[in-house]
Amino acid sequence: MRATVMYGVHDVRVENVPDAQLIKPGDALVSVTRACICGSDLWPYNSMKSSEVGNRMGHEFIGRVEAVGSEVRRVKKGDLVVAPFAWSDGTCEFCAQGLQTSCIHGGFWGGTKLDGGQGEAVRVPLADGTLVVLPVGEDHALMPSLLTLTDVMGTGHHAARAAKVGPGKIAAVVGDGAVGLCGVIAARRLGAEKIIILGRHPDRVALAREFGATEVVSERGEAAVERVRELTGGLGAHSVLECVGHGESMSTALGIARPGGAVGRVGVPQSNEMPEAKTTFYRNVTISGGPAPVRAYIEELMPDVLEGRIQPGKVFDSVTNLDGVPDGYRAMNDRKSIKVMIKF
Ligand SMILES: [Zn+2]
Repeated sequence: MRATVMYGVHDVRVENVPDAQLIKPGDALVSVTRACICGSDLWPYNSMKSSEVGNRMGHEFIGRVEAVGSEVRRVKKGDLVVAPFAWSDGTCEFCAQGLQTSCIHGGFWGGTKLDGGQGEAVRVPLADGTLVVLPVGEDHALMPSLLTLTDVMGTGHHAARAAKVGPGKIAAVVGDGAVGLCGVIAARRLGAEKIIILGRHPDRVALAREFGATEVVSERGEAAVERVRELTGGLGAHSVLECVGHGESMSTALGIARPGGAVGRVGVPQSNEMPEAKTTFYRNVTISGGPAPVRAYIEELMPDVLEGRIQPGKVFDSVTNLDGVPDGYRAMNDRKSIKVMIKF
């Protein structure tokens, strides 16, 4: 079969790899129908140490179950399924709490040992815990929005939850990538009264407004902090969604949280340092977040997608096929595309 492999900085190739196949009795074999490129794929795209073997890529996919192992009960051949960006057993202590990204037996797609979503097929470990069956056909009009449940919509929702968004609150979203845009959807869905998007790309800001952002702050650094203070009566935001992961965006997020406020961080930190440790201490700011347990959120968010209340699929502004994946990485890296969908 063919799949996407990353060998180093700006070196993404689509090539022949061993066919995905069932190995363990809890596995499912899924042929991918839709996948996408993630903003987090751009971190290794710009920093990966050169590798002879390469890393299989992709952690967001929908597909058709082709076969299941002898222990699989919840999914069957022919089902159309959505996979979260982490696989999990669904039964351990952390899964029972709805924190499937910490599953004791789980893990993440791709790398050197597992198939990735940016390929023709995937061996899905722990299929009963991991996969969710979709109630629609593979070319349904809502497929783009359903595809966001694999990661970005669930991740934006996690940021909003960690930031304690609720009715009447002021939410601020740092980052205008696909996750930040989904964070706007999530903040509105959870009842935020005012939603400030911090971003500067005109097409992304326009989509943020469509999703429910009420104010736009295009300044950066100290100027952004000042501007958010002005927009919040000098107090800062109750709920801040950090959707980038750079030290600078984290500093901004922490700087705009009001005393007693909360910052939900879902951008993968690119440093071990936590900025603003002292200033946030004196303001009693809660700092929470991490890899979103999107498996828990698929079932929570799917009815809103199916009934048209949210349309996160609008973050896809480009569609390609498997051969177009290397160009898709380039387009997202050059900020020419917000998010690229791969149609098989
Ligand atoms: Zn588990």
